[in-house]
Amino acid sequence: MARERRCAKGLGKWALAIGALLLVAAALLFNSIPGDLRGEVQEENREGGPEESAPASEAEAPDRAPGEPSDPGETQGADKEQGDAKEEEQGAGEEEEVEEEEWSPPRFEERQAERDKMVRVIRAYGLADQAVLDAMAAVPRHKFVLAKHQSHAHDDTPLPIGYGQTISQPYIVAEMTRRLKLTKDSRVLEIGTGSGYQAAVLTEFTPQVYTIEIIKPLADSARRRLKGLGYTVVKVRHADGYYGWAEEAPFDAIIVTCAAGQIPPPLIKQLARGGRMVIPVGGPFATQTLMLVEKDEEGKVRSRSLMGVRFVPLRRRDVSE
Ligand code: SAH
Repeated sequence: MARERRCAKGLGKWALAIGALLLVAAALLFNSIPGDLRGEVQEENREGGPEESAPASEAEAPDRAPGEPSDPGETQGADKEQGDAKEEEQGAGEEEEVEEEEWSPPRFEERQAERDKMVRVIRAYGLADQAVLDAMAAVPRHKFVLAKHQSHAHDDTPLPIGYGQTISQPYIVAEMTRRLKLTKDSRVLEIGTGSGYQAAVLTEFTPQVYTIEIIKPLADSARRRLKGLGYTVVKVRHADGYYGWAEEAPFDAIIVTCAAGQIPPPLIKQLARGGRMVIPVGGPFATQTLMLVEKDEEGKVRSRSLMGVRFVPLRRRDVSE
């Protein structure tokens, strides 16, 4: 009997201890619940007792008001702030891009049908790069040729531009442009501005276009013409392009529109890693070859010939002086 009583007494102690524990647990739980949910949880506690408070705390997450001072909420808030900061960063990046995207080349309706016909001829060669075809369709070639050649402005042929120089054949312009694989971020250097036509075509891809012309009157008139037509981003320099444009190097793309006896070493040096250069190589009376020069990410240079071409020679002095 005494043993039974002791037992009963022991059980009573246990019941008391468990009861006390449950009370402590309930108090702790109450404090961990955000203010606006306490009412709800209290209700549930009253009905179902503290052990049924689990669903209430599950309910916490979706119902939490923004900025509630619970840990997860704060973390979320921090995440959100970080997210906002990231967005701002991205926003800033976008703004930079927008600045670049702000460049939109001028558009000309005049003689569009002739340009479209010219583009069909280029496509017939097998050139299918739509961006290049679009660029060729957009730039008004007739604005770059002399008055006396206006009627042939969109023929697929080179035309004289004065000082014994020529504006290149449209197909060659398109093919050389295609080989450069330009993006909107490319920095491009052209050697042999001539009329400025090729430079204008390059601006259809990127606003970062630098071009060098050795004959001063050609450099001056090209600069004026490009500006007048709205190709305001092109930087024209009167100099010997053999040396490139060191201050603006490296370039992702270099296009040489006069034939050199050999590839000028300064141009190879100024080509960026991963960059591409197209250049006609060969003497004025010999067969010239259009070469593609590529510099890989390690700085290794490879070149290969693309096709036979005929360009005016790269000269080392200004014939107008
Ligand atoms: N790209 C031009 C056509 C160029 S014809 C256009 O779209 O109209 C080749 C040009 O290269 C000529 O104007 C010639 O004067 C120029 N040239 C020749 N040698 C040069 C050199 N060393 N540096 C810069 N330009 C050169």
